[in-house]
Amino acid sequence: MFYFSKTKYCDFKQCPKIPWLKKYRPEEYVVDAETQARFTAGNEVGDLAMGLFGDFVEVTAYRADGSLDLNRMKMLTRKYLAEGRENICEASFDYQGLYCAVDILRRTPHGYEIYEVKSSTSPEHRVYVVDTSYQKYVLEKCGLKVNKVCIVTIDPSYVYDGVLDLHRFFKITDITPLVEEEIGTVGESLKEAQKVMSSKEEPDIDLSESCNEPYPCAFFGYCTRNLPSPSVFHLYRLAYGKKLELYLKGIYSFEDILKDGGRLNEMRRRQVEYALEDKGTYIDKKGIREFLQTLTFPLYFLDFETVQPVIPRYVGTKPYQQIPVQYSLHILREDGTLSHREFLGRSEEDPRRALAERLIEDIPKDVCVLAYNKAFECTRIKELSEVFPDLSEHLLNIKENIKDLLDPFQSGYYYNRAMGGSFSIKSVLPAIYPDDPELNYHNLEGVHNGSEAMELFPRLKDMPQEERAEAEHHLLKYCELDTFAMVKVYEELKRVS
Ligand code: SF4
Repeated sequence: MFYFSKTKYCDFKQCPKIPWLKKYRPEEYVVDAETQARFTAGNEVGDLAMGLFGDFVEVTAYRADGSLDLNRMKMLTRKYLAEGRENICEASFDYQGLYCAVDILRRTPHGYEIYEVKSSTSPEHRVYVVDTSYQKYVLEKCGLKVNKVCIVTIDPSYVYDGVLDLHRFFKITDITPLVEEEIGTVGESLKEAQKVMSSKEEPDIDLSESCNEPYPCAFFGYCTRNLPSPSVFHLYRLAYGKKLELYLKGIYSFEDILKDGGRLNEMRRRQVEYALEDKGTYIDKKGIREFLQTLTFPLYFLDFETVQPVIPRYVGTKPYQQIPVQYSLHILREDGTLSHREFLGRSEEDPRRALAERLIEDIPKDVCVLAYNKAFECTRIKELSEVFPDLSEHLLNIKENIKDLLDPFQSGYYYNRAMGGSFSIKSVLPAIYPDDPELNYHNLEGVHNGSEAMELFPRLKDMPQEERAEAEHHLLKYCELDTFAMVKVYEELKRVS
């Protein structure tokens, strides 16, 4: 018997090798933080959308081991259909091994309506049509008449006013005509899928645009395992399509790139040349000196941590808005004295006012502030100034005085091969200080990157006191290392200049 689900079907339509690898090489599946965040947001939004049409029944059921009990879900669906329930969430169907669960199945006098809930703010993804066409196909094979198919996405312009209004938060888009066009291809695709899945032989499929569309493929590492490292796919800030073009021309390694004689911008050329030959550290003293001359003591090294809730929690905020919840600030005086300030909001309330007030207490007007990739800090401060007009003059003054410590690296004034073509502080720091345990993010406890901080902060409010104190300590230490790292990077620039 051939078993397939809508996830496998969508995977198959992205690339036939994906469901094959999931079945035969599951250990090669690598989920990055971004994909995991998308899954988490999807679950959160899916639960919320269940109430979109008023009363509903949900069929989700689990076995003792925590896995989904599909048989029970299908049995409950049959029961609720027979009872004529109006809204069935996670309605589950199976037609000869083709399984699908519908986010919301609505019963109307004219037939059934499928509502597929997405955590995205755009309904216009081809994959949504593919996904719902499979659902309609399975439901119709099970004898249901489906007369409407809709995508439920999030309206990015929705502003939370204290009471979540599902009808304004969600946006419903009728995609029935697109599904009608697509559905004729489902049967044929399933036949092909059956052939691929029943073979023990890995499909012979080369890299293509599909490896990045609609989502970066979790098997990319596996499928590029035989390429030299670094390869064209490591080139600095080059669009995936351009890298793919080189690859398809047979240009794989950095040597191939040079041999090909193709034009590289200065940064990429340096990346390639330094990777091929360890030339130590490239230093443009003049450029670095010019950058340092724009700075004045005392120097305020600032870094924000933010959360980005898909469902807004604070009045006046929108879905996916970046909310600053924490900052670290190192202050370096001309005599070398270093002091530290920090702020961590309380996750049960909107932390922005307290953060903005502390920020203007900690950073006087007209001082030199340094951020790493300053656009992020500048945008957050500008947003705070708009929400709190009484603090705006001081906040905007801070924003105007922010200099970017990323500039000398992005401008190509300092480079060594250990940076591997990346100028993020997480790449630059170990490239400058390779063996310093004090500067190693891996040596931190609990929180090692921004994604972990973002995930931990909202959970603080539900933790017992002791656990919370420990988690807060981890958050503070992580953010502190970010600005201490900036101080160390600054010291290195000063040393080499
Ligand atoms: S990396 Fe590309 S070729 Fe490999 S499975 Fe994914 S989409 Fe297919």
